[in-house]
Amino acid sequence: MTGTLRFRLTAWYSLALATVLLVFGALLYAVVHHHLLHHHDEPLRASAYTILKIIDETDDCHVLTDRQIEQLGKVGKLALIHESQGERQVFFDSPELSGSPLEPVLTELPLKHPTTLQFEALERDGAFWRVLSLPYQVRSGRRGVIRVVEDMGDIKETLKALRMGLLILAPIGVFASSLGGYWLAGKALAPVERITDLAQEIEASSLHRRLPHPGKDSEIGRLVETLNRMFGRLDASFESMKRFTADASHELRTPLATMRNAIDITLKRHHTPEEHEATLKTLGIEVDRLNGIVEDLLLLARADSGRLVVNMEPVRLDQILAAQVEAFWEQAEASGIDLQVRSTEAVTIIGNERWLHLMIGNLLGNALKFTPSRGEIIARVGIADGEANLTISDSGPGIPPGDLEKVFDRFFRSDPARSNARLPGTGLGLAIAAWISSIHGAEILAANRPEGGAVFTVRFGHRPS
Ligand code: ADP
Repeated sequence: MTGTLRFRLTAWYSLALATVLLVFGALLYAVVHHHLLHHHDEPLRASAYTILKIIDETDDCHVLTDRQIEQLGKVGKLALIHESQGERQVFFDSPELSGSPLEPVLTELPLKHPTTLQFEALERDGAFWRVLSLPYQVRSGRRGVIRVVEDMGDIKETLKALRMGLLILAPIGVFASSLGGYWLAGKALAPVERITDLAQEIEASSLHRRLPHPGKDSEIGRLVETLNRMFGRLDASFESMKRFTADASHELRTPLATMRNAIDITLKRHHTPEEHEATLKTLGIEVDRLNGIVEDLLLLARADSGRLVVNMEPVRLDQILAAQVEAFWEQAEASGIDLQVRSTEAVTIIGNERWLHLMIGNLLGNALKFTPSRGEIIARVGIADGEANLTISDSGPGIPPGDLEKVFDRFFRSDPARSNARLPGTGLGLAIAAWISSIHGAEILAANRPEGGAVFTVRFGHRPS
C-alpha cells in the first residue's frame, strides 16, 4: 500500500503542504512579533522629540518653567526626563508615571548607548513596555536622558496564542488536506485501475480486444489510445507469426510428402537401376528445395533478430545488374525470352554488394519464371531526381492489383503462381528483396505495366557519390 502511486502522491503532497505551512507560519510569527514590538516606536520617537523641543526652550532644563511643565504634561504618554550629569536626578515625572512600579525602573535603567537614541522592551509585573531613551544636551551644557514609555499590551499572550494557533491548526490542516488529497488521488487514478484490470484480461488469445476510450482528450485517453495501438501492433505481429508458422510448415510439408511418396514407391517393389536413379533425382530436387526454404528462412530470421552485420561501401549498381543479367542469360535464351539491359550510365550507391546481388537475382529470377516464351524482360538502372533507381519489367501475366501490396509478405504466392505447378517457388524471394531494400534505406514497389507484365522498382534514397 505504501508503494502505491496514490499513497506516494498523497505523501508528497502532504510533505509539500507541511513545508509551506511551516515556512508560512514562521514568517507570519516573525512579522507579527516584529509589528507588536515596533508599532509604538514612531509615536515614541515623535514624543521624545517634542519633549526635546520643550526643554530646549530654556538654556538649562534644571528648573522647568510652568509653561514647560504644562506642555510636558500634555505629551500624553508617560514621560521621564532624567539628568545624567554626575548623579542621576529626575527633574520631571509625568503624572501617569509617578508612583507606578515602572518609575524606579526607568530612573535607574542604565543607558546602553549614551550618545544615540535607543529602544528597549521591558517586562514588569506581567506588563510589557516599550522604552525609548534619547540622550540630549541643553545649551548650558547639561546632559541628560529623555525616557518615554508606552504600554505594549499583552504582547506575550498574543504571541503565545498565535504560536498555539499555528501549532494546532497547521497539523490539523495538513492531516485534513492529506485525507482530501488521498481521496482526490484515488479518484484521479481510478480510471488507471480500471484500465489495468482490463489490460490484464487481454491475453495472447484475445489481443483483438481493445480498451474502452474514456471519450476525453485527457492523459487517460492518450494512455488508452497508446495501449490500444500497442495491442494492435501485438495483434498484427502475433497473427503474422501464426501465419508464418503455418505457412512455413505447409511449405516444408510439400517436399517432405513428395520425398516420402518416392521412398514408399521405391520400397514397395523391385526397381531397375534407372528407376532408382529417377527416384534419387526426385529426392535430390526436393532436398534442394527444402534446403532453399531453410536457407531463406534462416536469412530472414537472422535479419529479424538484427544480428546480421551488413557492411556498406560504395558499389556500382550498374555492374551488379550486368553481372546478374549475365548469370541469367543462358536460362533466358533457353526459354526464348529476350533479356535486355538498358543502363547507359555508371551508378554508384552506398550498399552491400552481396545482398544487392541477391535482391536483383530474386527479381530477375521471378521475371524469368513468370515471362512466357517470346516475351521480354528489361532491366535498367539510372538516376532520376538525384536518386539511383533500379527497374525490372517483364511481359508476363503481371500481378493481380489486389496482391500488389502483399507480394512482399513472407510465403505469399498469388493464386496463378500457386495453381501453376510448373512454377517453383516458396514465396520468400520478394520478402528477402524487401528486407535488402530496407537495409539500403530504399523503397521497393511492385506495379503492372499498362501494356501488360509486372514491373519492380527499387528507389535508393542515397545520392550517388
Ligand atoms: P515465389 O516467386 O517463390 O513464389 P516471391 O516472394 O518471389 O515468391 O514472389 C511472391 C509472389 O509474387 C509470387 O508467387 C507471384 O505470385 C508474385 N510475383 C513475383 N514476381 C512476379 C512477376 N514478375 N510477375 C508476376 N507475379 C510475380
